[in-house]
Amino acid sequence: MNKATSHRVISLVSFMAAALACWIVAGAVADRTAQHELDDAMRVEGQLSSATADAMVQIIASDLAMARAIPETLAQTRTIQHVLAQSRNYAVKRAGGESTRRAELLGNPELAATDAFLHDAQGFSGLDNLWLVNPNGLCIASSNARSAQSFVGLDLSTRGYLRNALLGSFGQAYGIGRKSAEAGIFFASPVYEDGMLVGAIVAKVGLGRLRHWVAAPGSFVADENGVVIMARDSALEGRRLPQARIMQLSAAQRMDGYQRDTFAVLDIEPLARRLEGNAPWVPPALAAQLFELPGTHVPSLYAARGGLNSGLSAHLVEPLVSWPELERHRRFIKWLAFALISGAALLAYVIAASYRREKRHHRAARRLAAQLRATNTLLSAEVREDVLTGALTRRYFLSLLRQGIETARARGEPLCLAIADLDHFKQINDRFGHTAGDRALEHFVALCRDELRGNDTIGRLGGEEFAILFTGTPLADSIRVAERLRERLKTHRSPHLPSEVLVSVSIGVTELSPADTLERLLSRADCALYVAKSAGRDRIEALPRDDTQTTPDDLQAVS
Ligand code: GH3
Ligand code: MG
Ligand code: MG
Repeated sequence: MNKATSHRVISLVSFMAAALACWIVAGAVADRTAQHELDDAMRVEGQLSSATADAMVQIIASDLAMARAIPETLAQTRTIQHVLAQSRNYAVKRAGGESTRRAELLGNPELAATDAFLHDAQGFSGLDNLWLVNPNGLCIASSNARSAQSFVGLDLSTRGYLRNALLGSFGQAYGIGRKSAEAGIFFASPVYEDGMLVGAIVAKVGLGRLRHWVAAPGSFVADENGVVIMARDSALEGRRLPQARIMQLSAAQRMDGYQRDTFAVLDIEPLARRLEGNAPWVPPALAAQLFELPGTHVPSLYAARGGLNSGLSAHLVEPLVSWPELERHRRFIKWLAFALISGAALLAYVIAASYRREKRHHRAARRLAAQLRATNTLLSAEVREDVLTGALTRRYFLSLLRQGIETARARGEPLCLAIADLDHFKQINDRFGHTAGDRALEHFVALCRDELRGNDTIGRLGGEEFAILFTGTPLADSIRVAERLRERLKTHRSPHLPSEVLVSVSIGVTELSPADTLERLLSRADCALYVAKSAGRDRIEALPRDDTQTTPDDLQAVS
């Protein structure tokens, strides 16, 4: 993997790791928001379902109290007490069987009047049926005596609801009518005459009349054995609660009360375990309060109220209305938080990256500026000084000469210019090589520096030709200095040159005339040099100042 590819892979991995981190943080933010919302929703909806359950309980309790009051009141009436006392000894085991008994009882005028009385009472009270049972358990009269479903003549001694009443106390139980096959609640009140138990009066309220108990969605009512006797969703009726007592009863008792032996369980499933997997954001404390009815798939609140008369209990499993919205909102918050966090992270990254790049550019610019300064310094030095010998360059020397001329004129001081040319230099190059020539040039300039005063300057006019400026020096002194130079060159050999190399110089010297231009001064010095060369080299020739020339002042005077 080359460097670019590995760099790309590292970038991709870090980008993915950053995105994952943003996603996790966004999830945490969304979970936290959803937890607060769920908590609020459960509090509000919990209060509502609690109120609904309480209302259910009140309705059931008042309905039961009213239904119970009717047989209890009738048990106090003289008619009932009397007729039961009359039939007290009417035995079940009597010759002729059930139909004979029935015919006999229906034919009794007093009992027929009682049937009519019970029929009226049933009509007024809104009950389904009213009937009288003597202490032997025989039904002697009923509100529906004439109908085929009437109990008149039947032995009811085994009926559960009579158990308490025939022992002298009030009895109340849920059951399914054996004749009508209709579920209802049976209220049995003992009847006394002169302190003696003479039988019982029984009332039945069909569940059809009580369906308003389960008006609220998700509501149901269970009896004392934990069997659902009525539910808003009728599919739940006949099921049993998980810990129902019904399973402790004998099969015969189950058949007696419910006319069935098996009861499917109504599982109000606590959701804690399932939410751990499906919605781990739900805190355990809240998850513990959520349930689900089989097949609903919506977390629900469950409220149960027991302690009602006859052991009935009211239940309400109410789906959490805000759950789907909560889930949607949580997903929305998650994406929103992800967009915001990753946007902020991206912005921070871009800012950091551009800051880093800016810093890099700044450093590079500083480096460049330093390089430029160094190059400039070098260049300006090169502009002033000849790289090989260290003498001033031609251009710089001439500019200094121009200034020197002006200063000398202004101050009225003498100024001399010498031009020195090494003799037969070409031969040195030819015989000893160009490098030796270079060393000879360096040697000459070094000697000049040693011999000259600080304010005398030497410049290289080109090749092996140099110019020396003597400021404030008259011609005679300049010739002397030039002479000294010439001699020293011959006596002081360079340690860098082969011993056979003999370096000599010819010098032409002249002094500045009042009318001299720079070119004229140069040209006169050149002439002196020419004379020295022509005269055999290795000598000094001087040309005095030329006072015959017309100066700018003379011209002014003439005009
Ligand atoms: P003369 O005595 O008449 O001055 O003869 P000369 O040989 O010195 O003069 P000429 O003009 O014939 O030759 C000058 C030579 O100097 C020619 C050139 O190759 C050489 N030269 C010019 N500049 C340099 C330089 O910087 N280094 C070296 N080594 N030689 C140079
Ligand atoms: Mg020359
Ligand atoms: Mg020469």
